[in-house]
Amino acid sequence: MKKKRAKELYTLADLQNWSHAAQRVDPPIRLGVFGDPVTHSLSPQMQNAALKESQVAAQYARFQILPNELSEGLCLVRAHNFIGLNLTVPHKIAALEMVDDCEASARRVGAVNTISIQGEKLCGCNTDGRGFARAIREEFSVDLRDLRVLVLGAGGAARAIAMQCAQEDCERLVVANRTFEKAKSLVEGLRHFFLGPKVFGPVPRLQAIPWEEPAFRFQIGNLDLIVNATPLGLSRSDPPLLPARLLAPHLMIYDTVYSSGTTPFVRAAIEAGARAANGLSMLLHQGALAFELWFGREAPLNAMRNAL
Ligand code: NAP
Repeated sequence: MKKKRAKELYTLADLQNWSHAAQRVDPPIRLGVFGDPVTHSLSPQMQNAALKESQVAAQYARFQILPNELSEGLCLVRAHNFIGLNLTVPHKIAALEMVDDCEASARRVGAVNTISIQGEKLCGCNTDGRGFARAIREEFSVDLRDLRVLVLGAGGAARAIAMQCAQEDCERLVVANRTFEKAKSLVEGLRHFFLGPKVFGPVPRLQAIPWEEPAFRFQIGNLDLIVNATPLGLSRSDPPLLPARLLAPHLMIYDTVYSSGTTPFVRAAIEAGARAANGLSMLLHQGALAFELWFGREAPLNAMRNAL
């Protein structure tokens, strides 16, 4: 019988009628990413390259799943013998309550980005924090523990990144968020990591600051790395994250937003003489960690990198 190509995008209706939707798709779809929106996700090309390179007879697909469809979607992939899933906006936090088991990495962050399906059980993990640490090492040849970091944002990605910085005992951590209360609550949850004195000088090791130019200006001289963990920069009409006049040559800038070219934040940083990288390296490393969870073997990093 003639083989069928996988579709660019599947939906809950396809999962409900999977024997028809996936009929003759070869190799079979046994992995995927749930999101809304999800069309921009580069995970399928990266994970399909890894599967091919590792000679695993399975495919990875995109699933447009609305927030109110998540629970049913998860039940259906378990029933259809999937190996695992990735979750992206807006599902990472909601999924925490829907998995059967949860690794410490996901519980601490309060969000799940990877599910591995073991028999009847959905096991939730979070590979964003470790993926971020690997990306920083790769882009700037430096470890988080040596850095004074400003995280912009307090959502799922920011929480994973801030937790990773805390666990690796970074020199200093500052969190700024549009909704200041969320930055404060994120910082309070990390307080116990920062009890020891490490930085000499007048600035606290751990701090939440309001999203205001004077507050940013005051911090710049006491920072090494600024991380954008908001979606600002994804859309052309977005305002700049920080005024360009604040960016200085001693800074490293990491923009978790990824695009094939440079993001506006990366471009502004390079123009200011700073070193800067976009989120492709984090995408790569969080994806490689997910592959390792699903298959218990090293991910073919070069094949995944080339696919991106
Ligand atoms: P999320 O949980 O929805 O959090 C979004 C955060 O961005 C919140 O702190 C929100 O502030 C802030 N924000 C949203 N719109 C803003 C605006 N117009 N101005 C200022 N702040 C704004 O989303 P997430 O899961 O953390 O993802 C955030 C971004 O991280 C994604 O868009 C993606 O680009 C990136 N990401 C990249 C990777 C990677 O592998 N490279 C992995 C994960 C995420 P409020 O609290 O005030 O709403």
